[in-house]
Amino acid sequence: MKGFAMLGIGKTGWVEKEKPVCGPMDAICRPIVLAPCTSDIHTVWEGAIGERHDMILGHEAVAEVVEVGSYVKDFKPGDRVIIPAITPDWNSVEAQGGYQMHSGGMLAGWKFSNFKDGVFAELFHVNDADGNLALLPEGMDPVAACMLSDMVPTGFHGVELADVQFGDSVTVIGIGPVGLMSVAGAAIRGASSIYAVGSRPNCVQLAKEYGATDIVNYREGDIVEQIMKKTDGKGVDRVIIAGGDVDTFAQAITMLKPGGKIGNVNYLGEGDYIKIPRLEWGCGMGHKIIAGGLMPGGRLRMEKLASLISTGRLDAGKLVTHRFEGLDSIGEALMLMKDKPKDLIKPVVTI
Ligand code: NDP
Ligand code: ZN
Repeated sequence: MKGFAMLGIGKTGWVEKEKPVCGPMDAICRPIVLAPCTSDIHTVWEGAIGERHDMILGHEAVAEVVEVGSYVKDFKPGDRVIIPAITPDWNSVEAQGGYQMHSGGMLAGWKFSNFKDGVFAELFHVNDADGNLALLPEGMDPVAACMLSDMVPTGFHGVELADVQFGDSVTVIGIGPVGLMSVAGAAIRGASSIYAVGSRPNCVQLAKEYGATDIVNYREGDIVEQIMKKTDGKGVDRVIIAGGDVDTFAQAITMLKPGGKIGNVNYLGEGDYIKIPRLEWGCGMGHKIIAGGLMPGGRLRMEKLASLISTGRLDAGKLVTHRFEGLDSIGEALMLMKDKPKDLIKPVVTI
């Protein structure tokens, strides 16, 4: 079978591989909808997780099950399923400790296009099928459902990490597809003010539709100054980081009230250290908590977040701005994600 792979740092192309083997708890799936991710860009062009050779890329998909192992109870060939980007080993001790995304080691629940071949292929392998697959709900658009693989759960995990409470003022730094889902999640969680930081006009427009009360353009001046001005010098209760770089943390800490929390879901592809400004962190005593996390993954999360789409509480399909057809166009869709033209939010490929 063929797959679109990272050939080495900075290099992509098609590879030919053996069909994946289905273990007793696993499934083999055929993609129906695929989406490239900014994380694929960090992985290939920044070499953020190190060198990988001929590793098939991709971790966002809706698919059809073609084979299941003998222990799989809830899925069968022909089922249409949502594939979470993170597919933990559910019987690991890390999962028992509540950190399934790190099952087998730090970030090791993120298997696709990290530790094993990803989903940009004619067929791909899913471990722990009963724990990781979720049925595509009847009548749900598979393109919108593909946003459940990573964009919705990651953006919403930023909201969980920042622990947004009713009436909180929240800054969301970065309003690409992930940050937009943080805006939507913060609104669902009951935030009062949501300051969305970004610049691309269609992201700004969508941020407003998802619940942003204020827009802050980081290209037009220091975001700390802009947020402080908007909050009468008080700052915000919560900050979610879904864009920027290692220097963004200093800004987040400075705009955060004492007792506030920062939730980071940004994948820091470059830079050796994150600097914490001493005074703004209360000389170490400011009760300003910083949490950063990989999306938790798994079936329950997919099913619960899918129910938000089914009931009309969330319209994740609005993230999709570019559509391609056929597996052969996945390279083109990935390059779009790399080049980030101004009108792009999220591209998908239907197969
Ligand atoms: P995008 O590149 O589409 O969006 C990034 C956003 O950050 C844009 O709104 C951009 O603004 C803004 N931005 C860029 N630089 C700055 C800056 N200096 N200050 C403030 N804002 C800035 O990314 P995605 O939404 O696709 O992904 C966001 C991050 O989440 C990525 O790093 C991705 O790898 C990561 N990720 C993490 C996962 C996890 O499990 N933790 C899973 C999936 C993704 P502009 O409008 O100008 O473009
Ligand atoms: Zn992703």
